[in-house]
Amino acid sequence: PRALTPARRVVYLDHTAVLSGGELALLRVLPALTELGVEPHVILGENGPLVGELLAAGISTEVLPMSSEARQLRRDRVRPGRLPLRAFWDTARYTLTLARRLRTLQPALVHTNSLKAALYGGVAGRAARVPVLWHVRDRIAPDYLPSAAVRGVRALARVLPSAIIANSRSTLETVGVRTGPRSVAPSPVVMDAVHRNECARDRGARPFTVAIVGRLSPWKGQDVFLDAFAKAFPAGDERALLVGSAMFGEEEYEAALRTQCDRLALERRVEFLGFQRDVFSVLAGVDLLVHASTVPEPFGQVIIEGMAAGVPVVASAGGGPTEIITHGVDGVLIPPGDVDALAGWLRTLAGSPRLRGDLAQAGRVRALDFTPEQVASTIVNIYGRVAR
Ligand code: UDP
Repeated sequence: PRALTPARRVVYLDHTAVLSGGELALLRVLPALTELGVEPHVILGENGPLVGELLAAGISTEVLPMSSEARQLRRDRVRPGRLPLRAFWDTARYTLTLARRLRTLQPALVHTNSLKAALYGGVAGRAARVPVLWHVRDRIAPDYLPSAAVRGVRALARVLPSAIIANSRSTLETVGVRTGPRSVAPSPVVMDAVHRNECARDRGARPFTVAIVGRLSPWKGQDVFLDAFAKAFPAGDERALLVGSAMFGEEEYEAALRTQCDRLALERRVEFLGFQRDVFSVLAGVDLLVHASTVPEPFGQVIIEGMAAGVPVVASAGGGPTEIITHGVDGVLIPPGDVDALAGWLRTLAGSPRLRGDLAQAGRVRALDFTPEQVASTIVNIYGRVAR
């Protein structure tokens, strides 16, 4: 990587190196930020697939390893008086090491990309006297976090960061900070010419195919999707694709989904594709994309990916999806967790190529609002207000 000059150097922090949504969003926006003059340096808490992807994109990256106890501390285990001690001390030690590293690097700004990084990075940045920007991609709300954690994070949001970016208006509202530099920067969608051609091709004659894309996790609602699919198409040759893997210790949920398929006698019509690095190639063979999260989705990159690929989208209302989709125009919104409503729309859309075409057409246009260039310019704007 090129030599970094302190004035434009921004250090990005994330505790994980798996290719989950927030990490992919960072990977997708960094090249556009570089175009705008930012000199990024990423510090990750573990080694993993994100490291190679960042380096391949020419982004200066280092791993400052965090103990697995600290990294894997799960949000559902944070309760008053029950914060695991080992994880706590490991995090404190990590924060000190990171603060030392920041003092050496002397960046203009620290930009945190995950909730854990917001906490340790917020403290380390303060200790190193570097302004901190929190990029919040999770809802700081009781529908997602234990209420003690919600109170704690909201209190820290007032003192640790100098600025806050959230991935949607609804995420920003959950942070509860009403003063200081704040802004909404959606996650970008990037589609190259090869995929554009692939997705524009005639989808050809094959069974009607519905996909749900995203890591397998109870709140992502893959079980709701399977129930609705079985109800909409009890017999016939329609197919369902589950794209994504269990990422944060949610293997039990994956096993439950497979059992559910057997119970619904769907095992021959449902395919578990696991994690796919190239989601657009999968979308090129899909007639309908379903998003079925049972709590408000903070943003929902999968939705704009479906739109960009020209696939009509049915999504759970609330959070990001409601800000992205205009119901009946460029997609369909359903009440979260409503199996009957989803089944109804699956049938309606399967039976109406015309409606699917109209939604897909409008969706393609809507997806153009989420280019990396636009997102990067929003981010750089707020940098200008806080960077030293
Ligand atoms: N994704 C992927 N391969 C998969 C499943 C998901 O690359 O097999 C990507 C998906 O295309 C999207 C991201 O993971 O870009 C998920 O982001 P989203 O905002 O939808 O959800 P999150 O994981 O942040 O909750």
